[in-house]
Amino acid sequence: MQQTEPSNTVRKEIKSQYFTLLGVLIIILIFYFLWRPLNPERTAYIPLNQQVQTTVLENVVVGNASIEIVEDSSVTDANEVVESSDQPEDEIVKDEIDQVIDQDDNTVQYTVSRGDTLYGIMMRYGVNRSDIYLLTDQYKQLANLRIGQQISWNTDAEHNLTSFTWIISSNNVRIYERSGDKFAERIETREGIWKPFNISGEIGSNFVVDAKNLGLTSSEIATITKALQWQFDFRRLQKGDKFSVLFSREMFDNKHENSQLLAVRIKNGSKDYYAILADDGLYYDMNGGSLSQSFLRYPLVKQARISSGFNPRRLNPVTKKVTPHNGVDFAVSRGTPVLSVGEGEVVIAKYSGSAGNFIAIRHGRQYTTKYMHLDKILVKPGQQVKKGDQIALSGNTGRSTGPHLHYELHIDGKPVNPLTANLPVSEGLTGKSKTTFLEQFKEIKPKLQFSSEKKPDTASDVVANNVTK
Ligand SMILES: [Zn+2]
Repeated sequence: MQQTEPSNTVRKEIKSQYFTLLGVLIIILIFYFLWRPLNPERTAYIPLNQQVQTTVLENVVVGNASIEIVEDSSVTDANEVVESSDQPEDEIVKDEIDQVIDQDDNTVQYTVSRGDTLYGIMMRYGVNRSDIYLLTDQYKQLANLRIGQQISWNTDAEHNLTSFTWIISSNNVRIYERSGDKFAERIETREGIWKPFNISGEIGSNFVVDAKNLGLTSSEIATITKALQWQFDFRRLQKGDKFSVLFSREMFDNKHENSQLLAVRIKNGSKDYYAILADDGLYYDMNGGSLSQSFLRYPLVKQARISSGFNPRRLNPVTKKVTPHNGVDFAVSRGTPVLSVGEGEVVIAKYSGSAGNFIAIRHGRQYTTKYMHLDKILVKPGQQVKKGDQIALSGNTGRSTGPHLHYELHIDGKPVNPLTANLPVSEGLTGKSKTTFLEQFKEIKPKLQFSSEKKPDTASDVVANNVTK
């Protein structure tokens, strides 16, 4: 049988199909090479709304919903930078009270509260995970932290733990210092004598200056302003306003190093404010009510996917430098309502460099929140906002390559993981602890009287004479 050759028309068809395909390929290649160098950012960064392979780190329960905290696996890819930058050009201007409260160096002081674990606390502040393991593995007793105890630690620029201090009681302080691949423990058992220290004064210029003039230390002033931060703005205290404080100070040879604020009363105009220490280590008003404002866990109406988690030790794969991610990125589409997580004052609301449209809110004295890459800002600097108020619409402004909301929470001037941070709760005392508290307050109240309120027969214990420097 003779083979039939393909007809001419079939040959032509095959040829033209071949050339069409080749043409398309050439056009694609030309586009690829022309487009690439013109858009370095678009090829260098992965848009945040793109699906990336992620590993679930932990689940955080938020109300009755649950958020997955995921680590962006693309960060480890040497050629890609996931997020460009979240550095606003504008900084929050610090006042005198911030300077007293904020921990500017790498020391973090922390009071242990309900549900805390050492690992959990230090992870929120971005301490190197393997250092936490190293310390807690070596000293198992660190699992016995108690509510109300003070701890503090130091880290180096790379967030490696260099030292850790645990104040079990005034005469039992444990200090752990890093040396090589171990931590060495030192126990301080010095015991001073605890003496009550009572002082009252009047506002002459401002609270920080007046309190310092009466012998209060910076850390004592910080404790007072923190205890009453939600009640009023310390900057608005007027000349002639009065304050009265009761401390317990530990004395060593007539000098004091440690102190505990037992109670404070501040009279602002005709209004009286009290903060009294309860047995749980927290401060309450004179009726055992809460002095705190509660916060939303995240600044959105609905939960959203987290495209990039909090990671102060994030290594930039290109520069090999630590470029911290001080917040959380929520993958939300442009125009999503952004809420203020708590009551506060807007301090910055403007376009600010790589952060794009940027809002910073101050809540009380210890907390600030930051919202970046916004599409539309709906508030003005100086404006007072409440928890849940809509402050902006999310967007893709600044150095951002996909619509998302970058959200930060800072406590005492330090960024913390907003999804796991201890947020203030507004719960008052109840039951037996309330009864005990009210009885304790009955004894304390007379000590907080201002001299003008005292009866002549008690004038002998005028408190201002007790100043010990
Ligand atoms: Zn971010």
